[in-house]
Amino acid sequence: MVLNFNCKRCHTNYDFEVGRLTFDENGDGALEVQPNCPRCRSDQWLLSELGQSQATAVQLSDLPSPGHLRPETTAHDSPC
Ligand SMILES: [Zn+2]
Repeated sequence: MVLNFNCKRCHTNYDFEVGRLTFDENGDGALEVQPNCPRCRSDQWLLSELGQSQATAVQLSDLPSPGHLRPETTAHDSPC
């Protein structure tokens, strides 16, 4: 997926294809591909405001839906 970054060195905002964005149990994100700035080639970056909302959207869609966590369904309409 593409995230928007801000270069710490030259303060350019840029889009970068980071591959897969995954989150561990602490909610820390990990990028499959490390971005670097297209202008100065620095690998020192921050997520821009846009990038943060993009990452948050991915994190939320990664969470299992509470409706799917029931261990078993109860049968209310038993024929007996
Ligand atoms: Zn830069």
